[in-house]
Amino acid sequence: MSLRLYDSATRSVRPFEPLEPGKVGIYLCGATVQGAPHVGHMRASIAFDVLVRWLRRTGLDVTLVRNVTDIDDKILARSAEAGCPWWAWAYRFEQEFTAAYDALGVQRPTYEPRATGHVTEMVELMEQLTERGHAYRGTEGNVYFDVRSLPEYGSLTRQALENMTVSDDNDIEPDKRDPRDFALWKAPKPGEPATASWPTPFGRGRPGWHLECSAMSRRYLGETFDIHGGGIDLRFPHHENEQAQSHAAGLGFARYWVHNAWVTTGGEKMSKSLGNSLVVSEVLGRTDPAVLRYALGTVHYRSTVEFSDVTLAEAAGSWERFTGFVTRSVERVGEVPAEEVAAQGPAQLPPAFVEAMDDDLNISAALAVVHEHLRAGNTALAERDDVTTRGAQLQVRAMLDVLGLDPLAAPWRAAGGGDGTAEHAALDTLVTAVLRERDAARAAKDWARADALRDRLAEAGVVVEDSAGGARWHVKGTD
Ligand SMILES: [Zn+2]
Repeated sequence: MSLRLYDSATRSVRPFEPLEPGKVGIYLCGATVQGAPHVGHMRASIAFDVLVRWLRRTGLDVTLVRNVTDIDDKILARSAEAGCPWWAWAYRFEQEFTAAYDALGVQRPTYEPRATGHVTEMVELMEQLTERGHAYRGTEGNVYFDVRSLPEYGSLTRQALENMTVSDDNDIEPDKRDPRDFALWKAPKPGEPATASWPTPFGRGRPGWHLECSAMSRRYLGETFDIHGGGIDLRFPHHENEQAQSHAAGLGFARYWVHNAWVTTGGEKMSKSLGNSLVVSEVLGRTDPAVLRYALGTVHYRSTVEFSDVTLAEAAGSWERFTGFVTRSVERVGEVPAEEVAAQGPAQLPPAFVEAMDDDLNISAALAVVHEHLRAGNTALAERDDVTTRGAQLQVRAMLDVLGLDPLAAPWRAAGGGDGTAEHAALDTLVTAVLRERDAARAAKDWARADALRDRLAEAGVVVEDSAGGARWHVKGTD
């Protein structure tokens, strides 16, 4: 393992050594599902998707946990304004986030826990914190973390307690011992729906935002885990408070902190005030999803992405060069099978690419290597050097796959006919394989086997029509 990662806690690039050899546990703070995802929201998931893909390619077994914050002040306020139950509101936008991640080729996390599903774990943590003298009850339903009880409080972001003003709760609750204390549990406010609070030994209430991540990382990754990630804007107070809660409860918590920079427009951090123009579904109405992924995913994760039409046009130019070469090389030498692409580990990939990725995911240096192989591939195509062309297709696609951008992998792959989706292409591959088996059975006059294969397809709803041009298929009810 030669990966070196920038650890925001030590502010240094450190060799990455997993806690348990061969395995990596990552906790990534996910979305607060209060509204439609915009382009800025996609940055962290794409940056961490590249990290996960690289770790997996080096042979590590990665568990990625990305939570869904499905209860908070903003969800309650916005759903009430819309006259919609808070949970329906949260679920609607959770699905929109999932659709956006899928459209951009972000691999699904191993686990995607919701805050509301982990109240028991949060109560357990609060009990431990109160027993250890790090948390206290306010008025019925309110529980606060006592920041003065933990000498290391502020260490993640290197702030001294005396320089801090108030917690992020914004309102200085009168039952707090210190305005810098933060809420672990919040009593229902007047007018809030009864469904938005849970009974606990501390009274009815709902989670403070920070508590859920301490509880869920422990539940799915254990008391100590490898990497905690998220956007740089989450470092304080969210991550500082998560770490305080977990350390105060005696848990080891994250061993490395990895933070991605944000997306700006016109030099400003992207925010909701910019309106709908940057909502992912709107952007995808006028932009190829692969181009958006390219624009967001090919800047070093610790550098800001300036999002503009120019950024998209440049990304489109690069993406066209990659897809152009891959298409022409497939026409010339055929498609290198996906398994062969997937089998290109650090020992098979170009050493300069491996070195770049291991160097804190130095994506611009890695891309320079991809471009070198692309140029060599184009030259080989022009010279009809098929061996070199095939080798270039293999290497270019394997390297792009680490960035989530192999043009022949899901979800970018153009379908082999049909409705133009990656799912159709995958189904076509499977159905075609069964049809080939049936052809072989017929050729061997094994009619029973041929009929059984046809029945298997029929059971799955695949209708096969034999014609002079060969067998054609469609899914029942879709023709
Ligand atoms: Zn979090």
